[in-house]
Amino acid sequence: MFREVELPEKQLKDQSPYAGEEAIREIKQLAQGMENLRVLHVNSTSYGGGVAELLYTIVPLTRDAGLDARWYVMDNVPPEFFEVTKKIHNSLQGAETPLTDNEWKLYEDINMRFAASFPPGPWDVVIIHDPQPLAVLTFLDGVPESRKPAVGRWFWRCHIDLSTPLMSTWQKVASHLNRFDCAIFTSREYVQEEVKIPVCEITPSIDPTSPKNLAISDEEGRRIIASFGIDPKRPLMVQVSRFDPWKDPFGVVDAYSMVKRKTPDLQLAMVGSIAHDDPEGIELLRKLRKLAEHDHDIHVLSNEDGVGAPEVAAFQQLATVVVQKSVREGFGLTITEAMWKMRPVVAGAATGCKLQITDGVDGYIINSTKECAERVCEILKNPELAAKLGREARETVRRKFLSTRHVANYLKLFARHK
Ligand code: UDP
Repeated sequence: MFREVELPEKQLKDQSPYAGEEAIREIKQLAQGMENLRVLHVNSTSYGGGVAELLYTIVPLTRDAGLDARWYVMDNVPPEFFEVTKKIHNSLQGAETPLTDNEWKLYEDINMRFAASFPPGPWDVVIIHDPQPLAVLTFLDGVPESRKPAVGRWFWRCHIDLSTPLMSTWQKVASHLNRFDCAIFTSREYVQEEVKIPVCEITPSIDPTSPKNLAISDEEGRRIIASFGIDPKRPLMVQVSRFDPWKDPFGVVDAYSMVKRKTPDLQLAMVGSIAHDDPEGIELLRKLRKLAEHDHDIHVLSNEDGVGAPEVAAFQQLATVVVQKSVREGFGLTITEAMWKMRPVVAGAATGCKLQITDGVDGYIINSTKECAERVCEILKNPELAAKLGREARETVRRKFLSTRHVANYLKLFARHK
């Protein structure tokens, strides 16, 4: 069954100190004529990962603009489904792990079941996020008319790095997505030729008013990181990420080890949450912990150790350097968050990272572990350079990646597809 996610109220006016009055005025103008437009977002989890993070802000702000926006998640899903959808996710990002016929059958059976209990409409706009609930639209065809919601427009919102998909998975996914009215990608670079429907490009965003992104006092930040055994007086390299092979956590440890030879007092914090739909993450976390046993300056921490939003914020704000060593990255909100906190960020040359960082201007893009270590060394040695990159980074996020711009993008899209 689908479950509606309860959300706190958020107000556009609270965004104006960060985004400026003009951004709020633009949203109000765009929303004129869309009062009470019924907008439904659907995804697979309300906790963990970037999509949940985004919807916690975008849905309430869309409501404040006057639309009737809702967010539903797939609830009570068997764990095998998430194993299969993780495989879909991984192969869409290029892993050579095709799904078996039985796995596709499980994926489609669950989507069929969810189609039969689709949140009753009418909906003017439905936005399905990522592959997990994608096939629901296909299976609505088989639902009796009396139980089928009336829907004006269907959008598929893809958050995945689709630059090098495994063709067998992608073709199956494309067959479902081509039933939609429009597909939204983070970058046009992800649009493969199998997409036969109109597409639009929208980059994700961060909420400057969320506890994750509000500045905390350095004293409070130091207290928080010290409570996890980190010495706030020594340099700290941080990667915040789900425990996922695409984020190259072992590459981060290797880069740290290279730098550590020259900077013995360096510490590393690998901070990650385990999402409900992420069975693979638990195994990776275990392996990383094992690796960290040999070095007391490597701290592998998860939500199970009490790392919530304020703690993530503290790690990001107090990091001497933030690393996001992804080999694939749809976008990477962790980068945006660190840039907003004026941190120098060293990120892998994945499309999502390159969408945010201009190499050498507001961060560094690296192509290898060695290069990562070199850039980290450079930043550690040169606090002025670190500060300059950080100032530029904040300005990039202010101009391009705040929630208000994201809400405006959605409103423009709805207007175009009325
Ligand atoms: N995150 C978190 N706690 C963690 C790790 C990640 O709250 O321990 C958040 C992180 O701050 C970011 C989101 O989860 O807001 C991850 O989004 P991103 O786009 O970076 O990656 P995804 O997980 O969607 O691949």
